[in-house]
Amino acid sequence: MCGVIGIIKKDHEVAGELLLGMNLIQHRGQDACGVITACGNELFTKKQKGMVDELVGKVQDGDLQGDMGICHTRYPTAGGLQNGDTQPFRVNSTRKVSMAHNGNITNYPELRDKLKEHGVFLSTFVDIEPVIKIFAYEYEQDSDYYKAVEVIMNKVEGSYSVVGTIGDEGLYAFRDPYGIRPLMIGKSKDGYIFASESVVLQTLGYEYVRDVQAGEAVFIRRISKGKKVELELESRVIDQRHVSHCMFEWIYFARPDSIIEQKAVYSARLELGKAIATRMDPRDIDIVIPVPDSGRSSAIGIAEGLGVKYREGIVKNRYVGRTFIMPSQLLREKSVSIKLNPVTSEVEGKSIVVVDDSIVRGTTSKRIIDMIRKAKPRKVTFVSVCPPVKFPCYYGVDFPTADELIASNKTHDEIREYIGADELVFGTIADVESVIGKPLCCACLNGRYPTKITKDQMNQMKEDNRTNRC
Ligand code: SF4
Repeated sequence: MCGVIGIIKKDHEVAGELLLGMNLIQHRGQDACGVITACGNELFTKKQKGMVDELVGKVQDGDLQGDMGICHTRYPTAGGLQNGDTQPFRVNSTRKVSMAHNGNITNYPELRDKLKEHGVFLSTFVDIEPVIKIFAYEYEQDSDYYKAVEVIMNKVEGSYSVVGTIGDEGLYAFRDPYGIRPLMIGKSKDGYIFASESVVLQTLGYEYVRDVQAGEAVFIRRISKGKKVELELESRVIDQRHVSHCMFEWIYFARPDSIIEQKAVYSARLELGKAIATRMDPRDIDIVIPVPDSGRSSAIGIAEGLGVKYREGIVKNRYVGRTFIMPSQLLREKSVSIKLNPVTSEVEGKSIVVVDDSIVRGTTSKRIIDMIRKAKPRKVTFVSVCPPVKFPCYYGVDFPTADELIASNKTHDEIREYIGADELVFGTIADVESVIGKPLCCACLNGRYPTKITKDQMNQMKEDNRTNRC
């Protein structure tokens, strides 16, 4: 899972807004980040391993010129990261093309081999590289943006929400035919923006226009009229299939102040909590406490639904990154113990409900319960808002192989015992579907993958450990 933004202005530089915007999508990827701006037919690039702050500190005046550009924050890959692997990518064809995406291309090896047969060699292992090469080649043929996107949608499988620039012609965005990863359009008086989350639009002063539809290609064309520049939004739905938005955006990934597909993330989490509460018995519960931060909104919903007190029973050290996207198991395990600490005065002697967004491997939940037991609660009920994650994600979220997913191998009671809870409650797929109320991908819950993925591709991705390439 990554974050992307694209901005075009009539006559203002965009670098400042792109750098500010990258901070707002930092939670979507902390491994690396990059910006490309376009001025005339020139591209200006800045990339950096690590956090956005480090990149921003290195940008000097004049480094990123131009009134359109794109940026990317990258979710970590298990296989490590080389310098050239950071997005956005560029191709120096007649009209210089830039591109960044959020998602995962499941037929990357086939695309790579096909390009090789035509004498085109890739210089990285990043899945966007074959996509930009095919796109730039097709666009070079007859300057038809929609035709180039159609070729991509015919050849490229998996999830992809893409932003990019073409020469000085304009800013583009397209989304795979299933609409798996989010992407939306905003407008200001002098420009347009594409972004993974609405918090970027709201903070940078753009009015939400709409989400890019599944299988839709959008182009913001720059048109010079004498000395004046006009921006015109054009779009076409190229290929829409079975729409399947990632349910995990609403449960965990997106910021709670974002709205995706017109469903507010905060209210979805609150309502999911209330739905779970309908299946719990409030009689022997003293307090509900969240695992900060992603369990918070649902914990409020559960406490409201049960009619019991909500308390901040765990304090988070805000200077440690999100454990879920730390790059190795060792770091994940160590970081839990320095990240969270119980509030003994609230927890001691009580029957507590601890609410987290999900249980993936089970190790983090076990450590959280070990940590909270140091404060001597009388009883611990653990709630996972997400239903049991039983299958890997091939669309950009680092859910590991099935062997490592605890719900894939253990019964409900075995999971409860392993994590050390007295009781264990999961959200259900029915909760998720009814609360979010959109056509969803729930493949990591039910094994029904919306796109075509062969057994060979699954095995290859498992072997490459590359289910999260973006
Ligand atoms: Fe999201 Fe799960 Fe589908 Fe991956 S498999 S896109 S995490 S719902």
